Amino acid sequence: MSSIELPPIVQTGAPVLRARAIEVAPERISSPEFQSLLATMIATMRAAPGVGLAAPQIGIPWRVIVLEDDEERISGTSEKERAERGRVPFPTRVFINPTLRLIGEQTELFFEGCLSVAGYAALVERAHEVEVSGLDEQGKLQVWRVTGWPARILQHEVDHLNGTLYIDRMKTRSFTTTEQARENFSGRPIAEIVEQLKIEG
Ligand code: ZN
Repeated sequence: MSSIELPPIVQTGAPVLRARAIEVAPERISSPEFQSLLATMIATMRAAPGVGLAAPQIGIPWRVIVLEDDEERISGTSEKERAERGRVPFPTRVFINPTLRLIGEQTELFFEGCLSVAGYAALVERAHEVEVSGLDEQGKLQVWRVTGWPARILQHEVDHLNGTLYIDRMKTRSFTTTEQARENFSGRPIAEIVEQLKIEG
């Protein structure tokens, strides 16, 4: 494996996480500099480890996201949790200048975290199904329609490009350290947690 020096992941409070990221000129995509940015983003996501990363999270204010989920990262969750969340492995995806369309009325409520809000998690309501379109790493238009966990990751990452963090959308009473989440909420039905925490609507 080639050694890429990984940039630190920018933490909440940094202005770059609250700004609207800018469009990438398509002719720029094939340049070595841009390709190197993509490699750095993918390596940073894997090292974290995370299932998605947006360019602003490494301080680059451009509309670029990468996402990926595999058996290894999923292995920490039970069979039941995987099924409930619709968490399925998928290969590395790059979206440049993505646009996201929420499909249907169905939503899901699950715990979600962010590499830029390290050490915390909260319940966040997300659309069950989305369609994303954008350019891939070769500058070709691609459209991806997904449900479940990949749909959640996409909504989270595209939010980053608009200066939005999950803490803006979370059920505030569910905000927890990841340690407390493991201790108190792991493996429990969401409906029960919602009732216990007196979360409304
Ligand atoms: Zn995030």
